[in-house]
Amino acid sequence: MKRLTLAGSVLMMLGLTPGVWAAALGPLPPAVDQALARAVLKELVEINTTHAYGSTGAAQAIAQHLTAAGYSASDVVLIAPPEHPTKGNVVVRYHGKGLAKPVLFLGHLDVVEARPEDWSVDPFKLTEKEGWFYGRGSIDMKDGDAAMLETLIRLKREGFTPDRDIIVAFTADEEAGGDANGPAFLLKDHRDLIDAALAINLDGGGGQYKNGDRFAFEIGTSEKTYVTYSLETTSPGGHGSLPGPDNAIYRLADGLGRLEGYHFPVMLTATTRASFEKFADLDPGPESADLRAVAKSPPDLAAAERLSQSVRLNAQLRTTCVATLISGGHAENALPQRAKATIQCRMMPGDSAEHVQAALRAALNDPKIAVTLDAPPIVSPESPPTALITAKAAHVVHSMWPGVPLVPTMATGFSDDRQTRNAGIVSYDLSGVWADVNENRAHGRDERVGMREFDESVEYTYRLMKAMSQKE
Ligand SMILES: [Zn+2]
Repeated sequence: MKRLTLAGSVLMMLGLTPGVWAAALGPLPPAVDQALARAVLKELVEINTTHAYGSTGAAQAIAQHLTAAGYSASDVVLIAPPEHPTKGNVVVRYHGKGLAKPVLFLGHLDVVEARPEDWSVDPFKLTEKEGWFYGRGSIDMKDGDAAMLETLIRLKREGFTPDRDIIVAFTADEEAGGDANGPAFLLKDHRDLIDAALAINLDGGGGQYKNGDRFAFEIGTSEKTYVTYSLETTSPGGHGSLPGPDNAIYRLADGLGRLEGYHFPVMLTATTRASFEKFADLDPGPESADLRAVAKSPPDLAAAERLSQSVRLNAQLRTTCVATLISGGHAENALPQRAKATIQCRMMPGDSAEHVQAALRAALNDPKIAVTLDAPPIVSPESPPTALITAKAAHVVHSMWPGVPLVPTMATGFSDDRQTRNAGIVSYDLSGVWADVNENRAHGRDERVGMREFDESVEYTYRLMKAMSQKE
């Protein structure tokens, strides 16, 4: 998640820290909590949790903080799949009055690989520089993990009693997306530990600066579903000197040409409708009339066609499929007996793998091109931006940053939300960090978070956890 760059570099030229923006500052946590959150962020960034190392070390460090803060050992569960001992998770339960089913907070502990020679600072040290914290995971998402851990310690110290249990799961293997994914493992084998009425994930959503102003605050309500198909054609083959009409490579290539020209039908969700309307209001540019027209029911298809010229908007408007791999033939001097292509699709929430497969077959328009589904997708239905969740989020956001517009969003990539949503738990992304719309260093070099932005996010997370623990 998260980005920042243009605005930050301009401010550095002016000798200002990113905290000193046109935007009004938000409130900070008490000094003791600010200091603790920063110390925890440093500790977590400096524990290498890339795929090769795993997340167990970070999970253990979090468990130690929690037990030292007074959580009973039985409420702090350190758990890893037996066959993946380095892919540890820690799940903590903060007991409430039992007036409603629990709320689950999610944060992944693993980070993407970072090669020190590519960075201007050591990626596995937390470096303070010109108003920024640099380090791998500083914005994706050890910032959120630190804010949640600090909040758990603060709530305990203050003797807060929530209406319902607050469960926080610090989990493994989101970035690698391997077979030790924490939420998938917990939902499959230990559902009782994390079963909840709703999940809040700090791995997405959050504030967007535009030209230094607080432009919008995103609530992630949905993601597209990742699904992959194989296309395969066969032909008799033979000697390369005797080509005939039946050639697997030409057949597949012709089909791919037809597929390139195919566009899935326009599909709107409650989220994309609301986000098109909001962005039309927020950014009155040449696109805003089309954004409003496409958000109508039924959508204005001519407007959708114009908007689809933008790759980013096209991906919001429909399921997409694209050829990503191709292979065929077996020898330079032989006719091909086989040709294969991989088609990678991102389905709109509500679309189905069967429907997409049928659409691919129709677009290829050749029964001799076999279309097969590689693996059943982890279906990720939309968690609707209900009035209740929107009001709760707005209450917290506006207590921090008055008047900021909230926008529900659909991600074209995926996060651990797909695990919880697939398991029937409505899930929302609500990170509290602000970053410039143009910044995109998560997973890249010199990943960073604004120091002021981090401090404010700690106070926000505290308010969010309290608000979301109230019964409906
Ligand atoms: Zn992440």
